[in-house]
Amino acid sequence: MKILVCISHVPDTTAKIQFTANGAALDPAGVQFVINPYDEFGLTKALQLKETHGGSVTVITYGDASVEATLRKALAIGADDAVRLDGVPTDALQVASELAAHIQGAGYDLIICGQESIDYNGGIVPGALAALLDLPFVNACIGLDVTGSSANLLREIDGGKEEVAASLPLVIGGKKGLVEESELRIPNMRGIMTARTKPLAVTALTGAAAATAAVSFAKPAPKAAVQLIDPSNLDELVRRLHEEAKVI
Ligand SMILES: Cc1cc2nc3c(=O)[nH]c(=O)nc-3n(C[C@H](O)[C@H](O)[C@H](O)COP(=O)(O)OP(=O)(O)OC[C@H]3O[C@@H](n4cnc5c(N)ncnc54)[C@H](O)[C@@H]3O)c2cc1C
Repeated sequence: MKILVCISHVPDTTAKIQFTANGAALDPAGVQFVINPYDEFGLTKALQLKETHGGSVTVITYGDASVEATLRKALAIGADDAVRLDGVPTDALQVASELAAHIQGAGYDLIICGQESIDYNGGIVPGALAALLDLPFVNACIGLDVTGSSANLLREIDGGKEEVAASLPLVIGGKKGLVEESELRIPNMRGIMTARTKPLAVTALTGAAAATAAVSFAKPAPKAAVQLIDPSNLDELVRRLHEEAKVI
């Protein structure tokens, strides 16, 4: 089975986010970038499927040279080869269009995306990609089994789960549940060494245009300071909850 895992290169969840002077772009200075967590579940699932069915696992990111460390980490975890679509994307439709142009005719049986990226949180790329490729799409995937050219999937839905059948080739948007956190693979020394020599192809873009442009970003207002009230002064606590917080 030929599997492609689309990887979004995102700031670590603990990173302190700053924007450039005009507030229109993320300032990457001092930010640690990682594989989008949803994509890490997808990559692990892809490696498990390869171990069961044979085949190959390719990882792909649309980004500038700074994303190569993230791709090398995916190679160290176990992917066979990597592709970097060379450029700086500015919106989700542009990402989906460039990914689709690369995927078209390349013979992938399964294209695994994350449900959403934890930076721009668009949740657009996987569905747009499936539409551009005219392939079936299953989002919020928490389980996947493949038999021959058929896939059996489990989706998370509001208050429950849905079992879905689809045929390959297929695009999915995955999340935790595809594999459990305990199954995620930490690159070992051998993996890190072999990742250095695995193929990482840098491919030119087709020139897909972005449909939107970020004008400015703003952080949420800082939270108010915690107010400590003496445990013996319950009347004061009730007064503040009533008059200031207005919750009782
Ligand atoms: C250096 C750099 C600078 C960027 N600057 C901007 C910017 O200023 N504005 C902006 O909107 N975006 C920017 N991006 C792109 C951004 O990271 C996202 O790729 C894009 O905006 C789509 O985000 P989304 O939240 O809609 O993705 P979602 O649809 O939420 O992502 C879902 C899934 O789609 C796949 N996917 C998403 N993005 C990519 C990708 N780039 N390559 C491969 N697979 C992907 C992953 O599987 C991901 O889990 C930048 C990226 C890089 C590398």
